[in-house]
Amino acid sequence: MAQFSLPQNSKIKPGRLVDASHGGSRTKTFKIYRWSPDDTENPRTDEYILNLDDFGPMVLDALIHIKNHVDPTLTFRRSCREGICGSCSMNMGGTNGLACTKAIEDFDKGVNIYPLPHMPVVKDLVPDLSHIYAQLTSIEPWLKTDSPAPERERLQTAADADIMNGEDGRGPAACILCFCCSTACPSYWWNGDRFLGPAVLIQAYRFITDTRDEATGERLDMLEDPFRLYRCHTIMNCTNTCPKGLNPAKAIAEIKKLMLARQA
Ligand code: SF4
Ligand code: SF4
Repeated sequence: MAQFSLPQNSKIKPGRLVDASHGGSRTKTFKIYRWSPDDTENPRTDEYILNLDDFGPMVLDALIHIKNHVDPTLTFRRSCREGICGSCSMNMGGTNGLACTKAIEDFDKGVNIYPLPHMPVVKDLVPDLSHIYAQLTSIEPWLKTDSPAPERERLQTAADADIMNGEDGRGPAACILCFCCSTACPSYWWNGDRFLGPAVLIQAYRFITDTRDEATGERLDMLEDPFRLYRCHTIMNCTNTCPKGLNPAKAIAEIKKLMLARQA
């Protein structure tokens, strides 16, 4: 049985203070949540004083610097460092975002870094995403068709593609599944066992709006449920948090409108 830490429920104690600034004149303190399943210690926050001249401008640059030069035990996810893969989502200064696109200069004082809220923690800044990925699988996020496959690909007009992609590139297909929105949603915090949450629902909407998909009715049937969809109370934290500027709350509202339309 895997051990997990729940940061929001734990008494997080101050941990180590590590001065790795080498007497630099441009310094900043990074306070970082630490917890490991490999020992019996409670979660703590370690503070690292860093010289900003030692690395690049983003929070992820600081984390990589700590990992490579100060403390190799610090654990976090990252991959593309271009705001595309969604791996380095975490809570910085009280707001969810991508460490690779979050500028250190946005923080006047120190930078407090925690894992995505209300998720079990595998280690340090790495949340356990098993449940939310199972929810994603439940909406069958792939093109479903009954008609015979054409000789070449299933074509779509530019106007139809715009519905998914958004004319400004911020349509539901632009979601990178970073889960910043779901883990900022109070309703998902309390009902995450049954409410699908904004990240999974914007993915559901992406396939509902795909004119090549032939399973819209089936997809709406699956969502017609007091919890899966209707636990969204339009609090809008999701849209306010999305680091890609997408609007999952609107996607959810559009699904609700489709539900009403088919009842009429
Ligand atoms: S609008 Fe809905 S999904 Fe978004 S934060 Fe609010 S309750 Fe959650
Ligand atoms: S809607 Fe935005 S915040 Fe939510 S998973 Fe997609 S990219 Fe991340």
